[in-house]
Amino acid sequence: MRILLADPRGYCAGVEMAIKGLELALQRFGAPLYVYHQIVHNTYLVEYFSSRGAIFVDQLRDVPIGATLMYSAHGVSPRIRQEAQARALNIIDATCPLVTKVHGEAVRYARKGYTLILIGHRGHDEVVGIMGEAPGVIHLVESVNDVTALEVGQPSHIAYLTQTTLGVSDKQDIVAALRQRFPHLEKPRTDDICYATHNRQLAVRKLAAEAQLALVIGSQNSANSRRLADVARSLGTPARMIDTPEELRPHWFGTVDTLLLTSGASVPECLVEKTLDWLQRHFDVTIEERSLKQETQHFHVPPPLRRIQKQAGHSAATSRQTPEKAPLP
Ligand code: SF4
Repeated sequence: MRILLADPRGYCAGVEMAIKGLELALQRFGAPLYVYHQIVHNTYLVEYFSSRGAIFVDQLRDVPIGATLMYSAHGVSPRIRQEAQARALNIIDATCPLVTKVHGEAVRYARKGYTLILIGHRGHDEVVGIMGEAPGVIHLVESVNDVTALEVGQPSHIAYLTQTTLGVSDKQDIVAALRQRFPHLEKPRTDDICYATHNRQLAVRKLAAEAQLALVIGSQNSANSRRLADVARSLGTPARMIDTPEELRPHWFGTVDTLLLTSGASVPECLVEKTLDWLQRHFDVTIEERSLKQETQHFHVPPPLRRIQKQAGHSAATSRQTPEKAPLP
C-alpha cells in the first residue's frame, strides 16, 4: 500500500502556542491549573494534560476564587472575561491571534451599527465567544438553508464574518446565498478562515483523487479535522477519522492501494508516527510525503509566560511533535 502523507498537516501556530503555553503554565504555577474549555479540541492532548494536573472546566464557578485560569485557543466572550475578573482569577490568555482578529472585527462592525452574520457551527467554543462580542447584533448561519430562513429585514449595513475552521467551499456557497439576499453584503478585510485551515484542506483537495481512502487523525469535536474528512468525501474519496491508532482496523484497508493520511491542526505528530507504525506492522507500505505548502507562521506564548520560556531556555518555535515523549493514553 502506498501512503500519501499530506503536508501541511497537524499542529498550526495557534495550537503550538496554546500547548507550549500550557506546558509553561504548569511549570510555573504547578497543578492544579484550570483551563476554560479544552485547551484545543484533541482528546489525546486533553488526557495528557489532565494527567499532568490541568483541570478543564466549562463553568467558572468550578474555578476557586483567585486561582490561575487559562483561556483555550478558541477564545472567550466578554461575559466570561468579566466573570473571571469578578472571581479575581489570574488569567493566562491562550486565544489564537487569528481568533482574536475575528472578535475585533465583530466589535468594530457592531460599533458602526452593522448587522452581522457569522457563518459557523452552533455551540462551537469559538462561535460562542465571537457571538458574545455583540449579543443581539450577530446572527449565526450554518448552512444555505439558514440563509433563506434568516430574519433580519434589509439592513442598510450588513457584513459577514466566519469561524476560522470552516470548510472553504461550504463558506463560498453560504456567502453566495447571502449575497443574493443582501447585494451590499460586506466581507472582512482578510479572510477569517485561517491559513492552517486553508492549507490542510488544500493538501487533501490536491491528493484525494489519488487515494481510495483518506484517513484523518483528529477528534470528533475538532471542526478543522472534520472538515478534512468532508473535503475528501466531497471529491468522492471515502474518509475515516480516528482519535488514536488504537481505533484502526485491518479490514478498512482491504481494497486500498493508495491511502491519504493527514491530521487536524490540533493533532500532535506522535499520533501520525504511531499510525504509520501500525500501518507498517500490518501492511507492506511505501510512504510518500507530499508537500503542498510551506508554513512559517509562529505565535508567541501569552505574555506572562514569555519570561519563563526564556529562563527555561525553551526554543521560541515549538515542534509539532509536542508533547514528544508522551505515552499514548
Ligand atoms: S486552526 Fe487557525 S485559528 Fe485555530 S488555532 Fe490554528 S491557526 Fe488559530
